[in-house]
Amino acid sequence: HAKENGRNGFAFYHQAMSLAVEKQQNMESELHQAIEEEQFCVHYQPLVSVGGEIIGFEALLRWQHPEKGLMPPAEFIPSLEVSGLIVPVSNWLLGHCSRQIVKWKETGFWQPDWYVSVNISPLQFYQADMVPTMQQAISEGGAHLTDICLEITETVAIENIEFAVNRLKVIRELGMMIALDDFGTGYSSLSYLKDLPIDIVKIDRSFVQELGQKSKSQSIVEAVTNIARAYELKVVAEGIESHDQLMLAHNIGCDIFQGFFIERPQVAEKLKRTYLTRDLS
Ligand code: C2E
Ligand code: MG
Ligand code: MG
Ligand code: MG
Repeated sequence: HAKENGRNGFAFYHQAMSLAVEKQQNMESELHQAIEEEQFCVHYQPLVSVGGEIIGFEALLRWQHPEKGLMPPAEFIPSLEVSGLIVPVSNWLLGHCSRQIVKWKETGFWQPDWYVSVNISPLQFYQADMVPTMQQAISEGGAHLTDICLEITETVAIENIEFAVNRLKVIRELGMMIALDDFGTGYSSLSYLKDLPIDIVKIDRSFVQELGQKSKSQSIVEAVTNIARAYELKVVAEGIESHDQLMLAHNIGCDIFQGFFIERPQVAEKLKRTYLTRDLS
């Protein structure tokens, strides 16, 4: 019996594996089509200062799937990564953001010190031609490199710390800013804040959302903010969902705030309307 179960177990496992492989293959061919037919779009979520003014936006990728509707990145970024398609899609996104910035400049919406923050995947960060390809995508769109901030995670940075430090130096010398995203979820060594040439630390929303509820999260946000301050980095509190969380993050000394309480990610057109008519204070 044991043998039979084992064999059935294997058959089941085997079947599950082929299903997973088939699913990934279907997804990949759909993603190829999505690139060809430009089914991707970008939502922008405002980043606001202590005074409640916009200082920039995070660009967040969406897939307008022909049957399934608007899909969040968690459902397709892993497939983009595995297939390598994240590289062309991310360059498309950079070009798109660049053109959007130019439009915002033309309409007078854009302020000189604003920036658009773009998420960079591990695969992309380690491409040999990442820097010139990115530069080209941004320049062709018409924006300046100084209008862009790149978000990388700790995990990306420490995969090969020496390479990462050098690459980040090159990127910053070109005028782009660097943010360390989801800080606290990875290796979370505060010493990385000293070693990495970065401008901004984004404290992961899991800590921000526990502000006022768990003293441990409060201490983590305080510690990160204090260390970041010592290294002259700006601190973003991400995932602010309530007035309380905003006030607590503000009192701790975070510099920049992002979250559904302030604004959800939106298409550019809608954002503009919202913000020109809204009193943030
Ligand atoms: P992330 O970079 O940490 O982006 C912030 C995520 O938090 C976004 O989810 C945003 O919608 C969400 N968020 C913002 N405020 C709140 C809040 O108050 N409450 C909650 N619960 N969530 C909030 P989204 O758009 O689903 O993106 C998820 C992740 O997918 C991103 O996390 C990022 O890692 C990745 N991603 C998004 N766009 C891209 C892209 O263009 N390229 C790459 N490589 N990754 C991307
Ligand atoms: Mg991000
Ligand atoms: Mg984040
Ligand atoms: Mg996050």
